Amino acid sequence: MKKKLGKKQKKVILGSAITLLLLILLALGANPEVISSISQLTGYPISVNRTTEEPNGNKLSTGHLNDTIDLTQNLVIDYLDVGQADSILIRNQEQSMLIDAGKNEDGQKVVEFLQEKGIEQLTYVIGTHPHEDHIGGLDDVINQINVENVYMPKITTNTKTYEDVIEAIKNKQLTIKVPKKGDKVVLGDAQCEFMTEPIETKKNLNLSSLVTHITFGQTSFLMMGDAESENEKSRTWPKTDVLKVGHHGSTTSTSEAFLQQIQPELAIISVGKNNDYGHPKDAILKRLTKKGIETYRTDEKGTIELISDGEKISVSE
Ligand SMILES: [Zn+2]
Repeated sequence: MKKKLGKKQKKVILGSAITLLLLILLALGANPEVISSISQLTGYPISVNRTTEEPNGNKLSTGHLNDTIDLTQNLVIDYLDVGQADSILIRNQEQSMLIDAGKNEDGQKVVEFLQEKGIEQLTYVIGTHPHEDHIGGLDDVINQINVENVYMPKITTNTKTYEDVIEAIKNKQLTIKVPKKGDKVVLGDAQCEFMTEPIETKKNLNLSSLVTHITFGQTSFLMMGDAESENEKSRTWPKTDVLKVGHHGSTTSTSEAFLQQIQPELAIISVGKNNDYGHPKDAILKRLTKKGIETYRTDEKGTIELISDGEKISVSE
């Protein structure tokens, strides 16, 4: 006797069939990103994170982008691929921080990335310094996403890019907070500290970069903006697991003495393919390699996502 299936049963069978199909595709070695997008479309999430623990006891492991991360347990950092520019999203619990928003042309891309991640409100937005490759997309972000706090250095400039950001901030009735060295903010269960007193000179805006150190459990991250050796020399530094390399891997930054103090396990370079500046410079890459520091670049990997559970950090690409 033929039994007619109820809607619910049909859905269960369809779900199992799709799950089976995805598992077969995965077993056959299909691109996990394709599988990930199929599973998103069908609403049957399959984790494709192939995170494996490395045997040498360090904190790093590699895997693939995973959209089902538990933010109550993990700190998640995305170094967005915005070409020759910076934009970094940091999330834990219900809170989020955006450090820079790429160039003017990247604004919409950053907004869409935030929307994809389900972010309706940013707890903190940091514009590290007033160069276009850092604050270019900030006006789009501020205009389209609710922002609670904006941090920028005191220095101003008279570019259209900068004025657009100031206008967006005014329109949203926000005020710019200028952090001092040692100021701390809480991001979920993570602690963020502003590490340097910006050096305010119109001759070189890079020196005004806000530098942020983030601690989550036993793991730590340093966000350099475009800070240079002069900023590096201005203090002593704590040993830190992950370094966002200053100034896109330029020789102006990441001095030997600085690296010696940080001793990172992993370095991230936010940089554009075949950029006009020749970033990252070979000398810096060699300096990192010589110290056994694993280096990930956005021009090679696209957006890089780090997930920390407070003890270990996994890298997704
Ligand atoms: Zn820059």
